[in-house]
This record gives sequence, structure tokens and C-alpha cells, in this order.
Amino acid sequence: MQKKDIDWSELGFSYIKTDKRYISYWRNGRWDDGQLVEDNKITISEGSTCLHYAQECFEGLKAYSTQDGGIQLFRPDENAKRMQRGCEKLLMPTVATEKFIEACAQVVRANEAWIPPYGSGATLYLRPYIIGIGDNIGSKPASEYIFSIFVLPVGSGYKDKLRPVNYIVTEQDRAAAHGTGAIKVGGNYAASLQANAEAASRGFAGCLFLDPVTHTKIDEAGGANFFGVTKDNKFVTPYSPSILPGITKMSLMQVARDYCAMEALETDIYIDKIDQLAEAGICGTAKLATPIGRLEYRGNPHVFYSETEAGPVITKLYDTLFGIQTGDIEAPAGWIYKI
Ligand SMILES: *Cc1c(COP(=O)(O)O)cnc(C)c1O
Repeated sequence: MQKKDIDWSELGFSYIKTDKRYISYWRNGRWDDGQLVEDNKITISEGSTCLHYAQECFEGLKAYSTQDGGIQLFRPDENAKRMQRGCEKLLMPTVATEKFIEACAQVVRANEAWIPPYGSGATLYLRPYIIGIGDNIGSKPASEYIFSIFVLPVGSGYKDKLRPVNYIVTEQDRAAAHGTGAIKVGGNYAASLQANAEAASRGFAGCLFLDPVTHTKIDEAGGANFFGVTKDNKFVTPYSPSILPGITKMSLMQVARDYCAMEALETDIYIDKIDQLAEAGICGTAKLATPIGRLEYRGNPHVFYSETEAGPVITKLYDTLFGIQTGDIEAPAGWIYKI
């Protein structure tokens, strides 16, 4: 297989049109078998519910090249299940876990030339999504849907080693306490664009959202989960009904326990108690984990470990989980799906 002529080390997180995408339609109460197509444009009715009522959810996962030339997905069953929960909440038809994983495998195989090689640091990102389509106007679920997956090679975000970024705590909320915060829907992202743009305009890499009820506890970053390492070496991450249950976060908890002999727990992390954290960061599929150097809250800056260097625990967690994802370190049972 001839790989594409790409400088894998220069890749960021930008759209690249790869060769094939998977698309399946829900009509007359069932999904069709789905197919791989070349066209990256979809034609949908102006009455599509995804356009007006945000009847849409998506996923993000990756395929990794291993040293022995294999390709593997990381916990795709968890993405399938999370998407099912999103579909149930938005009254959309679910995609069975087997169909979801098989579609992932098909689209990865069909774009083999785009899969970054082992050791490049780059990976193949998969973007599954489900949208309500068809001729509708009233505020009710669509009768037709598209389930599609496209893929693109993405960089690690790090040239050589982990680098901390600076974050600010926003006064805005991304999701309601018992709303859609725990499902991966575009609406949450639309609601967080302004706060993120404001953070960027002030020179921050992004913003953290507080819990929408009391505004005293850290929720998450709106596209990545927050975690910390306490001064007595516990892995902590917020527990909240308004955050997205990240697969990276769950995996890091288990890595902390089983590979680093740390205690790991979901708990309240009060914004006025962050000096209890020796290290802090955000985590998600796209960049795995990024240390937060400085966090600003109401004009007060707080530096966790360092503004220029990643802390030792985050570095160990990162290296271990990336090693598991790329097959260098033995994974817990069920985490790896070989293609
Ligand atoms: C996708 C996402 C995350 C990270 O989830 P992973 O499964 O780890 O990629 C965190 N927060 C939000 C809001 C997300 O949409």
C-alpha cells in the first residue's frame, strides 16, 4: 500500500478530503446496509431537522498504526454506546454497536493510504455523525436520518514533548444542569463557540466551564474533560451531570489505577481549591492530554506545575495511554479492536 505523500509531522487538526466515506440512510424505519462513497458533499432537504432543531450528534475516535504494521481502533464500542445514548436523548434511531464498529473498520480500510505510519505521532481521526434529514417543518423528530463516517489524518499537536497551555475560566455555561451536556451534540459546541473565541482573543488556548448550577466547581473544557493530580498523588476528574463522559478520561482513570498505582476518582473540584492540585490538564481523543500551565479565574492567575513544562505524572499518563493505543504497551482486555 502506497501511503499518501504527506509530511505527517506537520499535520494539525484540519479538514482533509480523504478517498472514501461511509454513508447509511434510515428510511421506512430501518437503516440500509450503508456504502462507501467518494463524494464528500451530501444533499439534504431544506426541511432537515439537523438544520433547524439541532437533531444531530457525533463522535470522535482514532485508528492507530502499530509497530508490526497493524491498524487498530481504541475502544470503538464505547463511542458506539455513547452515540446510542445521544440518539435516545434526541429521539433519533440508534446504530447498533456491531454496525458502528463495522462501518468504522470499512472506512478505515478504504482510506489505508491516509493512515499515518507508526512512530509519526500522527493518527487517523474518525468522525461519525447522525443527522435528522427529510422534509420537515414542525419541531418533532425527523422520519429520515443519515449515519456517516469520514476520516482524516491528524497531528498529535506536539512536536516533541507535551507543552502546557494557558486556560481561562469563563462566566458562560455550555450546557444546562440536566440538559444535553452529557451527550455529544453539536448544539453544545455552538453554545461554547463564543466563550472559546473570547478566551482566544485574550491569548488563552481555551476556557473551562464551571458547573451551571453553583458556578463553584470545574465542569470541563467544552471539547475536552478536565483532570488533575492532587498533591497526595490522586487522579481526580469532575463528576457532573452536565459534562461529556469522555472515553479518554475514563481510560486515564484506569491507567492511573492499573499502570501508575494511583487512586483515581470522579469528584467535585472547586475552583477556589485548585491549589490542592499539583498538576492539571484537559483530555480528549484529539490530543489525548494537554497540561494546563496557568489558569485564570476572575483576573487571578494560578500556575499548576509550570507554564513551560509538563508535570511528571501527566507525562507518564500520556505516554502510557499513547503506548496502549499504538500497541507498544499491553492494553486492558477489550480496549483494542484490530482492523
Ligand atoms: C468529545 C468530548 C470530550 C472528550 O471525549 P473523548 O471520548 O475523550 O474524546 C470531552 N468533552 C466534550 C464536550 C466532548 O464533546
